[in-house]
Amino acid sequence: MKPKTSIEGLAVYQPGKNPEDVMEELGLKHIIKLSSNENPYGCSSQVFTALQDMKDQFHLYPDGASLKLKEKLAEHLEVDSRRLIVGNGSDEIIQMVCRAYLEPGAEAVIADLSFSRYETGIQIEGATPIKVPLKEGTHDLEAMLQAITDQTRIVFVCNPNNPTGTIVRESELSAFLDQIPEHVLVVLDEAYYEYVMDSSYPDSISLLDYNPQILILRTFSKIYGLASLRVGYGITHPEVIESLERVREPFNVNALGQAAAIAALEDQSFVTYCRYQNRRGIEKITNKLEELGLKYFPAHGNFIFFDTGIPAEEAFQFLLHRGLIIRAGFGETVLRATVGKEDENQQLVEALEALIKSKR
Ligand code: PMP
Repeated sequence: MKPKTSIEGLAVYQPGKNPEDVMEELGLKHIIKLSSNENPYGCSSQVFTALQDMKDQFHLYPDGASLKLKEKLAEHLEVDSRRLIVGNGSDEIIQMVCRAYLEPGAEAVIADLSFSRYETGIQIEGATPIKVPLKEGTHDLEAMLQAITDQTRIVFVCNPNNPTGTIVRESELSAFLDQIPEHVLVVLDEAYYEYVMDSSYPDSISLLDYNPQILILRTFSKIYGLASLRVGYGITHPEVIESLERVREPFNVNALGQAAAIAALEDQSFVTYCRYQNRRGIEKITNKLEELGLKYFPAHGNFIFFDTGIPAEEAFQFLLHRGLIIRAGFGETVLRATVGKEDENQQLVEALEALIKSKR
């Protein structure tokens, strides 16, 4: 048996620690998971009703084309439904775009640090990831342009960027898109789109009209709180949709996910509530980081990336023993924490304060 060469040496994705395992391991009664950028408020209660209504349909295959969901999204986003593709999470659309556009010899430009699934998707296809370091925590679009060659097929721009939380502004993005050669597709990953409150953030859908080479990715896993149901979507040009449809699994999005996403879209007040609560959480946490003299990047998503000056694994373990799971593994002394509910954020800032004081 010999698997394909491109997957040799590929690391298996490591999600954040499982709360139950941590509780058992450390003998803790309660654990707060702030490691996967999930919505601490769950999802809209309208989703529960929609899922109840599905209970006599478990034996049927789902609508493979996710037609009703696409219609709902088209109405919500004010785009033609022929410009939409739905995936088993936006993770699957990242995989589809790599499958459809990459092959050995091809290159794809990514930022370093950014969401790890781009690099994995590129490698699986036997293509070459070209990594461009971030500049002050955000994409260095100039350098990314310079990195484009005749072999480049895709450029990934994560906006807000996971894990740093920074954004690329509309003016920067437009200037960048104007210079993108015709043979390159720009994937704009907007998984945290709904959380952004900065007015300079691009209205990427309006950019689609002038730029036939953009694929926008969004998800129901974050602010809509449906991470377990796995629904993401892409907005792009019909020509790109056609290529993605060729590599899509026939029944990629399950029926419960589709029904839940439709119900979730109908409850925009839940989204607004979460967006404001998240902003308050960011203010609380960043105020404490400032008080403690710790560096952080402007947080535009539902997570904060900061530097404790303490080896990341040590800081991670300190917080873990206080019942908080956050995320390390991004660099020597940096950590990423998801914004939680008010009491969870309170526990996070108290633990951070204790961590820093333990070292002074
Ligand atoms: N893009 C980014 C930037 C993410 O952070 C995530 C989730 N961590 C995803 C895509 C994938 O999300 P999902 O597959 O749940 O839609």
